Amino acid sequence: MYDCAIIGTGVAGISAALTLKALNKNFIWFGSKKFSDKIGSAEKIRNYPGLSMVSGKEMADAFSAQISAMGIEITEKTVTGVYKMGDFYSVLCNQDMFDAKTVILSTGVESVKPVKGELEFVGRGVSYCATCDGFLYKGKTIFVLCTEKSLEHEIEYLASLAEKVYVTALYKNVSLRAENIQLLSGMPTEIVGGKKAEKVIFRDKELTIDGVFMLKAAVTPSVLTPGLEVENGHVKVDRSCATNLEGCFAAGDCTGRPYQYAKAAGEGNVAAHAVANYLAEKVAKV
Ligand SMILES: Cc1cc2nc3c(=O)[nH]c(=O)nc-3n(C[C@H](O)[C@H](O)[C@H](O)COP(=O)(O)OP(=O)(O)OC[C@H]3O[C@@H](n4cnc5c(N)ncnc54)[C@H](O)[C@@H]3O)c2cc1C
Repeated sequence: MYDCAIIGTGVAGISAALTLKALNKNFIWFGSKKFSDKIGSAEKIRNYPGLSMVSGKEMADAFSAQISAMGIEITEKTVTGVYKMGDFYSVLCNQDMFDAKTVILSTGVESVKPVKGELEFVGRGVSYCATCDGFLYKGKTIFVLCTEKSLEHEIEYLASLAEKVYVTALYKNVSLRAENIQLLSGMPTEIVGGKKAEKVIFRDKELTIDGVFMLKAAVTPSVLTPGLEVENGHVKVDRSCATNLEGCFAAGDCTGRPYQYAKAAGEGNVAAHAVANYLAEKVAKV
């Protein structure tokens, strides 16, 4: 069992990982070795202490060198669920499960807002995980909204099961090959249905579907972590970055504005210290 699972490899996650390592904690860190699109895509960063007028790429290189020097590993997996199991958490990455005493959510904010009806139909025809729920749609018709090229293999997997797959791809250089995939232009405006999702509405058309997959780099935290308290779309935290769930902390953009590197780094540090305090209190109580 890990002391902590950190979810997300943006600045908040990086800061949390560096601090937990310095505090000698045993943790697992989920995300990408490329860190975060939001680090890579910044042209010039002028307000991060110690790094003067760097590009996002230079900043990522600096982080990479620091993490390697500290001997920190990134587990390149997307987390599909975080479940409180009494006094520990099970973190699900498709079929793989990892247990940790605490969790730091540093998942950033979604670049694509949920479509109207999306959250209402989660678990009732709307899914965020192709490998978890794809089997439910064998021989059926599905709609997929995908924000990242790196998630294309999940669409191919769905196409190997479903009869028809409609896809809205919000990235460049789409290279989907399966014959039963039909690419659509335009964003859906609404998902509608009764007991489960039945139709996806666009400005110029309606699709009758059996299921919807939202394949995104970041999933709404309350969908990822059942029971998590959210306020105005952000995870509600106190000054120690603690959420309403005991042992679950959150840091960075996902806790609210301002969306800034320095704020994310600060909160990652605070959350890591809060994890260490929480673990120490647990030991003291035994
Ligand atoms: C173009 C651009 C320029 C910017 N310039 C500046 C600037 O000059 N100065 C400044 O202070 N701020 C700037 N910002 C804002 C800054 O990028 C963000 O505030 C910062 O990146 C937030 O860090 P974070 O760690 O909270 O989230 P993010 O950087 O968004 O990182 C979150 C990470 O978590 C990962 N993740 C999400 N869900 C999961 C999951 N389920 N499983 C595994 N991983 C997951 C994501 O893929 C991502 O890698 C800029 C942003 C953009 C887009």
